[in-house]
Amino acid sequence: MERPKENFITEIIEKDLEQNIFSCKVHTRFPPEPNGYLHIGHAKSICLNFGLARTYDGLCNLRFDDTNPSKEEVEYVDSIKQDVRWLGFDWEDREFYASDYFEQLYQYALELIRRGKAYVCDLSPEEMRQFRGTLTEPGRESPFRERSVEENLDLFIRMRAGEFPDGSRTLRAKIDMASANFNMRDPVVYRILRATHHRTGDTWCIYPMYDFAHGLSDSIEGITHSVCTLEFENHRSLYDWFLKELEVFHPRQIEFARLNLSYTVMSKRKLLQLVQEKLVSGWEDPRMPTLSGLRRRGYTPEAIRAFCARIGVAKFNSLIDISVLENSLREDLNKRAPRRMAVLRPLKVVIENYPEDREEYLNAVNNPEDPDLGTRQVPFSRELYIEQDDFMEEPVKKFFRLAPGREVRLRYAYFITCREVIKNAAGEVVELRCVHDPETRGGDALDGRKVKATLHWVSARHALPAEIRIYDHLFTRENPSETEEGEDFTSLLNPDSLKVIEDCRVEPSLSGSKAGDIFQFERQGYFCLDLESVSDKLVFNRAVSLKDSWAKIKKNQ
Ligand code: ATP
Ligand code: MG
Repeated sequence: MERPKENFITEIIEKDLEQNIFSCKVHTRFPPEPNGYLHIGHAKSICLNFGLARTYDGLCNLRFDDTNPSKEEVEYVDSIKQDVRWLGFDWEDREFYASDYFEQLYQYALELIRRGKAYVCDLSPEEMRQFRGTLTEPGRESPFRERSVEENLDLFIRMRAGEFPDGSRTLRAKIDMASANFNMRDPVVYRILRATHHRTGDTWCIYPMYDFAHGLSDSIEGITHSVCTLEFENHRSLYDWFLKELEVFHPRQIEFARLNLSYTVMSKRKLLQLVQEKLVSGWEDPRMPTLSGLRRRGYTPEAIRAFCARIGVAKFNSLIDISVLENSLREDLNKRAPRRMAVLRPLKVVIENYPEDREEYLNAVNNPEDPDLGTRQVPFSRELYIEQDDFMEEPVKKFFRLAPGREVRLRYAYFITCREVIKNAAGEVVELRCVHDPETRGGDALDGRKVKATLHWVSARHALPAEIRIYDHLFTRENPSETEEGEDFTSLLNPDSLKVIEDCRVEPSLSGSKAGDIFQFERQGYFCLDLESVSDKLVFNRAVSLKDSWAKIKKNQ
């Protein structure tokens, strides 16, 4: 499996190993908050954390950062576990929950109070804001800052016992209201909140804040390198402060740039909004950047891991073009996906010199990249379908496919020549009358003559009906997270992000496919059988086209 390339994080770790800082061990963790489904940004963090553990023969924990009961749900926990496993990583028996440490964290809070490093504050949230100061002005100290250790212990114990209403008091760290770093201006450590927690139920009515719970959870688990995203850089001094004041095991926090991907959004809050407002079909909508959406779309764990390895990790934020992700999928599927023939917009072709009662089976290669995948048999008969786009009654320059009087190859089958065009009352082409050359069976002419085009096709009588869903970027703007004043990011949704093509025809060998099976439909792209598929109507999602059509558009602009 891929290992993280050398980067600034591996450099730090190697230095720590050399200097024997953490007894020569590397222990990382992936710490999702179970308040949404995982997305491709999380994949970057998963590959990094589990990858570092593997590289240095260490361990990586899965820890649910479940300190915020009002937004968290068991559904999310289950989906997160499924996604991490699907990506190919194993946390073995190290499945942890910050909520499992609530009692211990509470004891740490008592210890902070005893050491004179925390106090119970009665300021309302609004007053606290007023006292906090600004970027240019220091904050003001709370009038409750100098309470005695005894009074603080008494009040905090009573906070836990449920004696005070929600939001009426907080426990705050006693650090420095004049600090240039806002996070150090006596941050809240505990708040009073009566909310049912998905694991601890109603046991607690006080909950620890993220900064307090996170570092101490790392410490409890013996994490050596706590890798997180850049927005926590400003929190590192607080992370370090708690560990230092409590004199407990002290992991090293290292920040890296989060993944941003063009034409999509990555914030769970925004993704949740898309789901709740039914702007997508759910977290698993194949247009979503969630791992479950990508999986349903036809993304493979291999492609996602290769993508994460390719983008690497850095210390500055950037926007990765979504084509980098799509190319990783193409590269993976090109090697592995079996080839099949499918006609998205069928045009009937009748081979006039082919007997009506005849059918034959022709050899088709399953994957030219992988001879081990062998061949299959595709049925051929008098009536076929080809792609509407593959015919032009009056061919323009450089159109080499089928036209009246012209000969082309049907892949794995015969050369055919178009003799006659049949139209309906509206003047649309509805059928082509053609003849085939029996001497070209298999797709090559014995006399060596060449044709300029090879078309895919299916036998009308044998083909299966299918619905094919074609996806495009979810948003029209390259960076939909950068909205103007008063602009709602949902107004940037691409109205053409999903096109459903109803009456497609696919070759019969696809009948036994299972949801999640992925194929290359020749000349069309890579397609994944959707979970909504039923036996009399197959449903396929286009995972990705064969080529990056956006690259061409951009180049021509
Ligand atoms: P969001 O801001 O979207 O709600 P989050 O950071 O709050 O995401 P968590 O569940 O807390 O989501 O994330 C778990 C881990 O995944 C964290 O260590 C976080 O830094 C990392 N992570 C989240 N988003 C990204 C991203 N876009 N790129 C890289 N890592 C990420
Ligand atoms: Mg978070």
